[in-house]
Amino acid sequence: MRSCPTLTAYGRHYCAPPRRLVSLTFTSLHRHNSAQFLNFSLFTAFRSPFSRMEQFQTGTGLTGNKAMVENLKRFGVISSKKVAKVMEALDRGLFVPAGSSAYADTPLPIGYNATISAPHMHAMCLQLLEDKLQPGMRALDVGSGTGYLTGCFALMVGAEGRVVGVDHIPQLVDMSIKNVEKSVAASLLQKGSLSLHVGDGRKGWGEFAPYDAIHVGAAASEVPHALLDQLKPGGRMVIPVGTYFQELKVIDKSEDGSIKARTETSVRYVPLTSRVEQTGGF
Ligand code: SAH
Repeated sequence: MRSCPTLTAYGRHYCAPPRRLVSLTFTSLHRHNSAQFLNFSLFTAFRSPFSRMEQFQTGTGLTGNKAMVENLKRFGVISSKKVAKVMEALDRGLFVPAGSSAYADTPLPIGYNATISAPHMHAMCLQLLEDKLQPGMRALDVGSGTGYLTGCFALMVGAEGRVVGVDHIPQLVDMSIKNVEKSVAASLLQKGSLSLHVGDGRKGWGEFAPYDAIHVGAAASEVPHALLDQLKPGGRMVIPVGTYFQELKVIDKSEDGSIKARTETSVRYVPLTSRVEQTGGF
């Protein structure tokens, strides 16, 4: 039998979750004004022993961002050394609103009816895209929000690569640039291998296309054609698709241009929509 790392939290023993997590991320259906998207996963709610991980001893003496990554490794969410290294290097605490539980495995509201995804979702998407985030490659992050995952992509591809983040909320783009400037990815932003833009991500970002990797951080009712067009032959896109019930799709474009799609897991993301629809006109 496989060994099972356990941890006691809230008086219960927990065991490492299976590699293929069923991640359902619930979103508040209130869409307007003061409504907040409460974006969390079933995995987080019922399986994760570390959803309040900053309150727990890791047994390693680690705290904060390092403890977050250590726990994701320990519970089988992160298996890639490179992803672990990048997530360790980029402090999630620099990307979330002051006073939030930066290192808990939970999504957090960032304003404008948007959330920063939970760390396990970021880890999962980084691992799904890892082969297409090799040094020198190009990546597009649609719905870049806080800029955290875009920053991780930039660290993966390095100074010779090119990473573009696009979000349609100008205030979020401004905030994401400030966040990155405080982080280890600052020099990549300064040198121009990472850039963050205001735009409708459903149209992609033609300037640096085609991309080896495309990540979409909001759920589309169907895969936007522009994104398929901007995916390089041999490239991969990870995108949540659906409305209420959503699936995280992994879409591979082969060298001859044909498309193959599979479902990784069930998820719940905020919608990929228009700015007015997302903010209720505010
Ligand atoms: N991945 C980011 C944010 C996820 S929330 C993070 O973890 O920080 C989803 C983001 O998608 C929000 O910031 C929202 O503003 C953005 N979004 C939704 N529809 C969009 C569209 N049509 N074009 C660009 N961004 C969009």
